[in-house]
Amino acid sequence: MKVTIIGCSGSMSGKRSAASAYLVQAKERAGGNRSHEARTWSVLLDFGPGAMGQLLNYLDPALLDSIVASHLHADHFADIVGMQVYRRWYPEGALPKIPVYTPGDGVARTRGISDDPIDETYETEFDFVQVKPGDVVQLGPMKIEFFRANHTIPAHCIRLTAPSDEDPDRDVVFTYSGDTDTCEGVIDAATGADLFLCEAAFEEGRDSVRGVHMTGLRSGEVANQAGAQKLLLTHLQPWTDPIKTQTDAQKKFDGEVHVVQAGEEYVF
Ligand SMILES: [Zn+2]
Ligand SMILES: [Zn+2]
Repeated sequence: MKVTIIGCSGSMSGKRSAASAYLVQAKERAGGNRSHEARTWSVLLDFGPGAMGQLLNYLDPALLDSIVASHLHADHFADIVGMQVYRRWYPEGALPKIPVYTPGDGVARTRGISDDPIDETYETEFDFVQVKPGDVVQLGPMKIEFFRANHTIPAHCIRLTAPSDEDPDRDVVFTYSGDTDTCEGVIDAATGADLFLCEAAFEEGRDSVRGVHMTGLRSGEVANQAGAQKLLLTHLQPWTDPIKTQTDAQKKFDGEVHVVQAGEEYVF
């Protein structure tokens, strides 16, 4: 599996990064027919402001297989309208339709962002599928599971299981918290994860409101309880100190902790 940080700035785009967007790619296991080259599947988790342009640095949109949104807040979904224009109006021919998995009504949300008329369904670009906690989606070699997050609107923590790039006979797990405060869902989603990408939007001692986001400390607690192997922190706002956030996480989690930056790639 390969994870590319397309955008990781929290709540809004930042000086050096688009808002939330993570490209996850996994290769099919080679079948009996060795002449058939194993295809790589590409899924985008979240699609925040600025991510459309940054994605072009890493992937031809014609090769994108699906978009999975943790939730429909604008900082995680606004660039769906850029992808819609790209797919419909690409000068060399319209791109194929891809599934878009969301909690809530993805069509209505897209229409609202782009201010399109009520009869616009985007059915030539997207197949919107509403998912709920407990749902499982199989996309090529990737198993995608949805868990209930603790946020201000319906939101999911996402667990992806797919063949390892290092040893294709073995499965690896990548978990993305989406936006959530501490809850059972995020711990279940991250249980035993090889790589746990967890939001830490709030800062200890600064943000006291609960039920919205985690802090570095709470991210570390969740990673520890879940038995994750490695913790990546994301969704830090432009005003948040990454060193304090990382230090707070390390107080609760003994494994490796890193605050991600746009352009980083993780292969495992
Ligand atoms: Zn957010
Ligand atoms: Zn949110």
